[in-house]
Amino acid sequence: MNYVITPPVIPTVAVAASDSLFPVNRVYCVGRNYAAHAIEMGHDPNREEPFFFKKAPDNLLPASESDGGGTFPYPPKTHDVHHEIELVTALSKGGTNIPVDTAMDCVWGFGVGIDMTRRDLQGEAKKAGRPWDTGKAFDNAAPMGCLHPIAQTGNMESGRIWLEVNGKVRQEGDLNQLIWKIPEIISYLSGLFTLRPCDLIFTGTPSGVGPITAGDILVGGIDGLSGIKVTVD
Ligand code: MN
Repeated sequence: MNYVITPPVIPTVAVAASDSLFPVNRVYCVGRNYAAHAIEMGHDPNREEPFFFKKAPDNLLPASESDGGGTFPYPPKTHDVHHEIELVTALSKGGTNIPVDTAMDCVWGFGVGIDMTRRDLQGEAKKAGRPWDTGKAFDNAAPMGCLHPIAQTGNMESGRIWLEVNGKVRQEGDLNQLIWKIPEIISYLSGLFTLRPCDLIFTGTPSGVGPITAGDILVGGIDGLSGIKVTVD
């Protein structure tokens, strides 16, 4: 096939203890999936229907160093970028209308990600009833640590999730606090979209989200997974 312009490189995420890369198709994100975070954002913590938004695959900021480190350039047109530490689920299989009880068969593995958010632009969009893209889907908006295969990690139904900024714990929770569990998210999403191998799903953030500034060092982790370290430039 001849292209009129050279096609873009496929975005990838590193795989722990491997030279192989995980190629990325779509990047789905779940909103308000921990009760304490729903409350801090001024919403009902009771289980409502889940909702979703997307980041662009080339918004990913893969770790550039073996310790999960990377540099996040502070983005333009904002004065209020927030961190949201999240468990990221990577799919090896897709489909439509996937039942909850077979949904975990679609999972390739897991990693730690940060759903960087231009909160001021997201807030303006919410008020005006506009899409969230400028708040959520900007360049480098999805720093990612290494992925681990599910054979190593198990189903990640519980475990501490945390984020420290400059050595102080800002976000802390447990995966067992997810309002919509991973198989439920996969099943629900597959009713809205045809899921594909190589899709990523950011599963929501625990409470404690807050602003970052240039020079901050963010260190995040989830029990059993490689951590992430991001320096804000
Ligand atoms: Mn989020």
